[in-house]
Amino acid sequence: MLPSSWIRPLLVVVAALTGLAWCPVQAAGQSAVSDSHGRADAAFQRQFGDGFFAELWQANPDSAISVGYYKVAERLIVPNDLSRKQELAFIARWQSRLHAIDRQALSDARRADWEVLDNQFESRRWEITEAREWQWNPALYNVADPFAKLLNTEYAPLEQRLRTVLKRLDKVPAYYAAARSNIKDATREHTQLAIEQNQGALEVFGDALRQQVAGSKLSPAERAAFAKRLDAARAAINDYVTWLTDLDRQLAQGKARSFRLGGELYEKKFAYDIQSGDTAQALYERAVREKEQLHARMNVLSDQLWPKYFPNIAPPADRLEKIGRLIGKLSEQHVSREGFFGEVEHLIPQLAAWVTEHRLLTLDPDKSLKVRVTPAHQRGVALASVDAPGPYDPAAPTYFNVMPIAELPEQRAESLLREYNRWMLPILAIHEAIPGHYAQLVYGNKSPSRIKTVFANGAMIEGWAVYGERMMLESGYGDDTAEMWLIYSKWNLRSVCNTILDYSVHVRDMSEDDARTLLTREAFQSAEEATGKWRRVQLTSVQLTSYFAGYAAIYDLREQLKRSSPDQFDLQRFHERFLSYGNSPVRIIRELMSATTAK
Ligand code: ZN
Ligand code: ZN
Repeated sequence: MLPSSWIRPLLVVVAALTGLAWCPVQAAGQSAVSDSHGRADAAFQRQFGDGFFAELWQANPDSAISVGYYKVAERLIVPNDLSRKQELAFIARWQSRLHAIDRQALSDARRADWEVLDNQFESRRWEITEAREWQWNPALYNVADPFAKLLNTEYAPLEQRLRTVLKRLDKVPAYYAAARSNIKDATREHTQLAIEQNQGALEVFGDALRQQVAGSKLSPAERAAFAKRLDAARAAINDYVTWLTDLDRQLAQGKARSFRLGGELYEKKFAYDIQSGDTAQALYERAVREKEQLHARMNVLSDQLWPKYFPNIAPPADRLEKIGRLIGKLSEQHVSREGFFGEVEHLIPQLAAWVTEHRLLTLDPDKSLKVRVTPAHQRGVALASVDAPGPYDPAAPTYFNVMPIAELPEQRAESLLREYNRWMLPILAIHEAIPGHYAQLVYGNKSPSRIKTVFANGAMIEGWAVYGERMMLESGYGDDTAEMWLIYSKWNLRSVCNTILDYSVHVRDMSEDDARTLLTREAFQSAEEATGKWRRVQLTSVQLTSYFAGYAAIYDLREQLKRSSPDQFDLQRFHERFLSYGNSPVRIIRELMSATTAK
């Protein structure tokens, strides 16, 4: 969470997902240079190539570090009026250069880049001048992450990295002083998060680092300077925590700002972040309808399955209770702790074969995905995830990380295995790998664009993975059984209810009790999952809608193209065309695809 971040927390993850085989921007325009778009494309690439990024990273070193660009790592930006003014000037300067290029003259790929950049400029300006989270979210201020990345990533010899850290440490006290003077109207939830996370930050500046310095080849003078700056940085963090603790006490007595974003800010943020071409309100209303349809469908499936799993027992009259009991029963069918890794390893080539045989997507046989146990430092909450190199580290391989479930405590392992049961585990692999995130990544890299990699659209990326789940089941994967569709519906209900929850909480004042009822009763989630979700919705906004927003927009686009030319529509061609635009927002892909189809 960085104050002057050009890449939001979500997109940092996304950037790490999408960097495979990234090539310099010049290479991207090869085919375009010879056609009518040549001149405009060349002008665009001259302006928004290395020079633009060098300036962007210079002004945003935290973001630079997060994408693996270390040249500016010794700079720490103090988040004060001056740096905000400089950022606004940066935006104005580059946006006017962008607007000097005629976007209609650009090729599709570069026009998508143009739109992505323009939105990025508008969005950042709006964040600084209108949303003003820098005034009400104390958790934006935390220096730990970039320091941890510099210390843990071996991009250079230890001494060089320590010298970078030494320079960067110098500004930490000024950084926290600016943070305190920025905060005017904090929410209690973000204040408490800031306390917790900054206490955690002290770990990065603790004994492990002191030992690293002691064991290094730094000179005695450098070591002395290090010790001094480290003490000052720790004191600054401790002071911030004390100050926030006081603030929280005051807020408890007075009237704190609500964590709820409110309708006006929410719609704007939704428009900038999601870019699906829809309003947040329309998406919310659609999600409510979708939930009803899913429940109706799950009810029918449960009636079919009930006698098979509960012979001689009468089903409960309440349909949600009936569905919940069946899901519970089906969840008993899962692989063992020991068999989990092998099962995932076996699923990947099976999914690849299915996608090829059913003409859903052409896969590159040279780009296979290696399944491995998640390395210790990456073990968080995700059971499985794709781990690809960032845009500045293109040579690194891509892995499918799987949590070492056999090492988990029995109860935790059992609850994960039940969740990712016989029917759910393949859906997870579809989402993360094929044809989901991994396949999308390989396609995106065929039209390399640093702009789309760095400013990747999260709704398009998540939406594609969620769309892929349904598309696979529609193609007959999982044998079209009632069990498969029921478990799939539960999974899909999660995306749908994330949207309902986020909008309801931030715009419609939904209470915590109602939120819990929605998640546990209507979406069949555990109390534990609901607790985590309630916390997340208080601390973030809009991001939870990205899954359903992207999915709905992609599904609509497909159906619209199918209707407009039913004889010519080809599913595989649609998928490949759609993915060829890289991580662009769905709204832009739709414009570009519709324009070409109309020709
Ligand atoms: Zn079990
Ligand atoms: Zn995903």
